[in-house]
Amino acid sequence: MGKKDTKSVKSSKSCKFDIGGMINNEKSVKEQLEYYKDKVIKQDILIFEMRALLQSGKGFGDLMNLELLLQSFMSVVREKYGSVNSTVLLYDDLDPSQEYYQVKSFHNINEEYKDLEGRKETIYLFKFPKDNGLLWQIIRQGNVFSVRDLKGDSRFETAWEKWNLDILESDIWCPLIKNGEVLGVLTLGKKECGNQIAESEYPFLQELASIAITNIDSTIKYEKNQRILKNIQTLYDINQQLSNVNDFKRLCIQTLSTAVNAVKAQKGNLMLRSKGTGKLEIKVVWGNIPDHVRDSINDGITETRAFALDEGVAGKCAMTRKPVRMNDRKQIEQFGKNQVHCICTVPLIYGGEVEGVINMTNKIVVDDEGNSTLDPIGRFTEEDESLLLGLADQAAMNLHKSKIYNESITDILTGLYNKRHFEHIYHDEYNKAIENGTTLSLAITDIDHFKKFNDNYGHKAGDEVLSKVAMVMQNCLRPGTMDMAFRYGGEEFCMLLPDTSPEKASDLMEEFRKKIEGMKVNFENQKLSVKTSVGISCFPNDTETQNGLFEKADKCLYEAKEKGRNMVITYYQGLLLKYGDTIDFEMLKKIVKNR
Ligand code: GH3
Ligand code: MG
Ligand code: MG
Repeated sequence: MGKKDTKSVKSSKSCKFDIGGMINNEKSVKEQLEYYKDKVIKQDILIFEMRALLQSGKGFGDLMNLELLLQSFMSVVREKYGSVNSTVLLYDDLDPSQEYYQVKSFHNINEEYKDLEGRKETIYLFKFPKDNGLLWQIIRQGNVFSVRDLKGDSRFETAWEKWNLDILESDIWCPLIKNGEVLGVLTLGKKECGNQIAESEYPFLQELASIAITNIDSTIKYEKNQRILKNIQTLYDINQQLSNVNDFKRLCIQTLSTAVNAVKAQKGNLMLRSKGTGKLEIKVVWGNIPDHVRDSINDGITETRAFALDEGVAGKCAMTRKPVRMNDRKQIEQFGKNQVHCICTVPLIYGGEVEGVINMTNKIVVDDEGNSTLDPIGRFTEEDESLLLGLADQAAMNLHKSKIYNESITDILTGLYNKRHFEHIYHDEYNKAIENGTTLSLAITDIDHFKKFNDNYGHKAGDEVLSKVAMVMQNCLRPGTMDMAFRYGGEEFCMLLPDTSPEKASDLMEEFRKKIEGMKVNFENQKLSVKTSVGISCFPNDTETQNGLFEKADKCLYEAKEKGRNMVITYYQGLLLKYGDTIDFEMLKKIVKNR
């Protein structure tokens, strides 16, 4: 405002009339009146400008959205000067390797431009770097300045040519400076009437810009803080959700899908280092990928390419143990057929070891209906990188925990759950059955004369047989059910069959028994075979207690051994029934009913 006042005083000083000397002159009274009229008009303009400034300041203050704020800033300028076009370029640090100013908003200039290599680009990708040339020296002074002479030629030829600045179609530039830092530049083209904005109009622009940049700066900081807050929330939520998840695959998928959604990436993958080759292998993928391709990779059916530690962005990240963020498409090595615009990769480090990496590629925009499309100008921010690092830290810890947990509940020889896990799950399933009023069948199996088998063929052969029996049992689990198989001890296995009747359990276990009977295990040029006995009981049909259920199945197994082995015996309404010739559940039901 001070500048305005000085200017008005200046203009009164430069008036050619000597007011005092004209008081008694009639002609000069008329001129004097004219003079005052002129002065009133000028003051009116000044008041209007002050009001406009005040209102713009207030208006800007209400906008906490950068895009809206910049549009509003440009429209206030247009209203005042009738400028046909404008752009706002702001300082951009999204590419850690460069410092430049990039178009953030524009009005009335082409949405696309040709870069110096003749490639078409969106105007939002137009940028020019900071340097020490003449143009930058003037920008740093902070005053509005003209970039073209009256003939329309650029006053900064070198910069114009080097950075293709013709694209901005500008006549004057207004540096946007806050606390001595150039945060951006507003560029303006010709007025609608074809004239350049006059120098006398610069001060208002200067004032307006200083109000705008204060608001732009706080909006940028506000948006950044909002992103940081959201990231903290995301990290907290995922920690809550996943700290008790022990399923390794689910952990990988949940972590990755959260990361993809949180940073609005088009696609992402989680790679882990193979123990054998040391290479990075894709374990799960997420994002804009056909469902069948995604599921096939995530289920381990489709094998994907592995990356050595000196290969690609993932390799670089694992090797340097640091995040890699690349936002300049031209600097990204393109492998596949889909263009990679930006990429962000963070390492998964646990106990000082790089266990893998999380990769994100490209950004998407999501419309109000939830449809997402590729955002060719979107880039990964510093906050995205921090969030991914936070997620990677959590993931590394959770994955490690789940690995240890899984090891603790898995039997090494057979890969089945061990007895410890059986006790745990048995208890849970029993309570679930009570709660839901469903049945729970339990089958216990034991290999027949296994001691003798070991004596005949040796322990190694015995081990081989145990692992093959476990495989058969695993294959008997019905897909889509909660069936579970355990190695209970030595050569004893269990199956928990929730929501399964004794009839169904008997059928299933008879099938298992037959498969074992028919199984030939190749061992040192011999074809070995074993047989197995099975005991089954069912809750609540046979017992009301957890221990009772186990005891009854065990009793049936003992009975099977007694009766000659290689058979399935089921506890049924107080009877111990051998599967096969004597069993007819329908008939038995009637017998029991009539008893
Ligand atoms: P039955 O038909 O009555 O079950 O006779 P069995 O010989 O199978 O029963 P017993 O309980 O006397 O012997 C179980 C044998 O299982 C003893 C042991 O040599 C063998 N065994 C237990 N655990 C393992 C193992 O991890 N590996 C091998 N190779 N053998 C095992
Ligand atoms: Mg035994
Ligand atoms: Mg046995």
